[in-house]
Amino acid sequence: MSDGTDIKANCNSCGPSRNHEVIKKVETRWEDDDSGYVGGDTYQLIRCRGCEKIHLRHDRWNDHDTDEQGRPNIEIVYYPPAVSRREPSWISDGPFLFDWDNPIIALLREIYSALHNDSRRLAAMGIRALLEHIMIEKVGDSGSIGENVKRFLAAGHVAKASEDTFKNHLLEFGHAAIHRNYRPSQRDLNALLDITEALIAALYVHPFQTKDLKIPGRPQRKDKP
Ligand SMILES: [Zn+2]
Repeated sequence: MSDGTDIKANCNSCGPSRNHEVIKKVETRWEDDDSGYVGGDTYQLIRCRGCEKIHLRHDRWNDHDTDEQGRPNIEIVYYPPAVSRREPSWISDGPFLFDWDNPIIALLREIYSALHNDSRRLAAMGIRALLEHIMIEKVGDSGSIGENVKRFLAAGHVAKASEDTFKNHLLEFGHAAIHRNYRPSQRDLNALLDITEALIAALYVHPFQTKDLKIPGRPQRKDKP
């Protein structure tokens, strides 16, 4: 039964700030005797007024983590997680339709999942693993990533103008996350995913989409009588 109030909340289908009916709300509060800190949690079962999907929203705060005015910074988590990036339409279509076990799609889905949970290091490592998989699938495994990159580029799988971005950004971010505990920003990760998705589209999706395209022939010239 609804408690009669509405809140603005994220809906993965409709958008980031949409009217939601609060179906049930539970608030808890805690106090730590040793540190003197206080905090609380609010759980709300909510239904989007647009698409009627139901989510659980968890607001968490404590009086140690505050803004400049001393008000608690409220951390909001949704279940299922708020989607920070929409998946490309070809992820379950075209060459990947019903290909449930395709490792490229499986890895890509895990990367999105890491991104939605703000696990940015894992997302960067995943992008690197995905690119290594694609390189090996296209040119075989030479035993070292340096050699695989060289052969992948030599085979022309990356446009000449993008070779530098591929070597120095795409692969390096994953390397830094693995070996130097580097945590990329959300913006950087979105850029890396843009490039990765474009590479998959160019190598797998576009050839599939165009394989049955017929170029209209020129009209036949009629010989003069
Ligand atoms: Zn909705």
